Amino acid sequence: MFNQNYHSILYINLEKRKFHIEQREDLYRDYLGGAGLATKLLEEHVKPQADALDPAQPIIFAIGPLTFIYPMMTKTVAMFKSPLTEELGETHAGLRMAMTMRMAGYDAILIEGKSAVPVFLSISSRDVKFQEAQPFWGMDTDTTGLFLRQAISGSGKRCILRIGPAGERQVSFACATVDDFRHFGRLGLGSVMGSKLLKAIVISADKDYDIPNTPEYRKIYEEIYKKITETPLLKKYHDLGTPENIIPLNTLGGLPSLNLQSARYADAEKISGEAFANEVLTRKLSCSGCPVGCIHIASLKHQFSEEHEYETVSLGYDYEILYALGSLIGVSDKQHILILLYFVEKYGLDAMMAGNILSWAAEGYQKGILKETDLLAKPAFGNTQEFLTILHNIILQPNDFYKSLAANPDKCAATYGGKDFLLTLKGNGVAGYHTGYGSVFGQTIGSRHSHLDNAGYSIDQGKEVPPPQGIVDKLVKEEEERCMFTSLVVCLFARKLYDMDLVVRALAALGMPRTAEELTAIGANIYKKKMELKRAFGYDFKNLAIPERFFQTESYRGMLTHEAMEELNRLYLEKISATVGV
Ligand code: SF4
Repeated sequence: MFNQNYHSILYINLEKRKFHIEQREDLYRDYLGGAGLATKLLEEHVKPQADALDPAQPIIFAIGPLTFIYPMMTKTVAMFKSPLTEELGETHAGLRMAMTMRMAGYDAILIEGKSAVPVFLSISSRDVKFQEAQPFWGMDTDTTGLFLRQAISGSGKRCILRIGPAGERQVSFACATVDDFRHFGRLGLGSVMGSKLLKAIVISADKDYDIPNTPEYRKIYEEIYKKITETPLLKKYHDLGTPENIIPLNTLGGLPSLNLQSARYADAEKISGEAFANEVLTRKLSCSGCPVGCIHIASLKHQFSEEHEYETVSLGYDYEILYALGSLIGVSDKQHILILLYFVEKYGLDAMMAGNILSWAAEGYQKGILKETDLLAKPAFGNTQEFLTILHNIILQPNDFYKSLAANPDKCAATYGGKDFLLTLKGNGVAGYHTGYGSVFGQTIGSRHSHLDNAGYSIDQGKEVPPPQGIVDKLVKEEEERCMFTSLVVCLFARKLYDMDLVVRALAALGMPRTAEELTAIGANIYKKKMELKRAFGYDFKNLAIPERFFQTESYRGMLTHEAMEELNRLYLEKISATVGV
């Protein structure tokens, strides 16, 4: 009988090589699943004052009560203490991981401790195997995936999550790669896995999953499926994908280029979604359980030896890639963007943070602030070869400069120069929207400093921008709502399609009735819990610490001022202090 009124949590201890499963009704009742479930488990297990890479720190993966039951309920949430920001680390990924967790029977997986030797976990519904990963240690993400597929016996549905050399060497912005084209990209999950000597996790979907077969469920499923496949809202994601945004954002004057010395890029046409589709797009993919297919795959003919040796590589691209490895660093040749992406992928780095660092290095070197003796390169906007040298050195860390850069880019810029133009907000590399206060302030105060926390960029792009109190109210309300949606866990591209009425009916059809008021309250409570966790980590709510560059370059909504930003923060602190107590 279908029952989602409790959560099955798989606890794994790497040091003791032990695991056990617990069923928790309270977690489903109070936190739904996904981001809410992970927040509560993090609160229960994290050591707020200990280092992010302390062996005792947990990594939590969580799915939602509707995962793989309704379309586009496809994402897995990862939570941990971030080595990049030393506070709340949260990142989401799609493809097969959520489906395999559902079909292996786990709503959450919590991993603690540090293995004595490199290990990979092989998880099924019946067992957790701690397997030797020494042969894979040092391998890039592609090769690791290849070898793991051969090492795991049997066939069937499974997911392979792994880290590359960046995670092994604990680069603070190392990602973890899911299957082939998706990532837990942000805030250094790869580094936390590396610190535990955890090279990879393989999850096998080896159990039948009891999909509810009631007329109500089938009716709502069909309603959602029809909406998804017929609505114009989602057409753009399948057609050109998010790269469609390049031209409109450039036209508005909101596309960061040349380290945000401008919000327009002269070569925007060359890196547009249209140009990529016409010249390098070869296929599209979907996360398991989604009919949209928004994952755009390009082919790169890559020469790996001087003796005319080539391989054809498939790489997934989206708007943030074309911004971070294109306009931001002045690279407009598609093949060059793909070559940079190829190495970012192989090493297992957060592509957005990598782009932010490369653009900072180019400007810093051009201005004589950063030295060749530290950079071991002569970076310039558009110079792909020099950028590749820097990426390589971030992994090798051959001198004090690179050790510092890999450990903490903000501290590195404070030591070596250029802090005013390193494009981080509260330590996290900025997304590609210089649209106004909604975007910059929204990312600064977002619980994980992601543009997806509260979508402030869309406030800037509305017909009229509200007054400061209106901006603050919208940002907080949106983040509370998103906490509910990411607890379900829906792909945020379906955010407008899954309105509250539909969510209430979808849950009721599965025998999990919740009112709109209950769901709203759960979202607000999860947001509050996240803020409390941040405070426990020592997060400074009062100091915005926004780099000067954001005030020097005109945004779509005009120049930003310190006074207006401070006023927004005053209103924000007033708003959240009553509930969060900052
Ligand atoms: S729209 Fe794209 S990211 Fe979202 S679930 Fe579908 S394929 Fe995955």
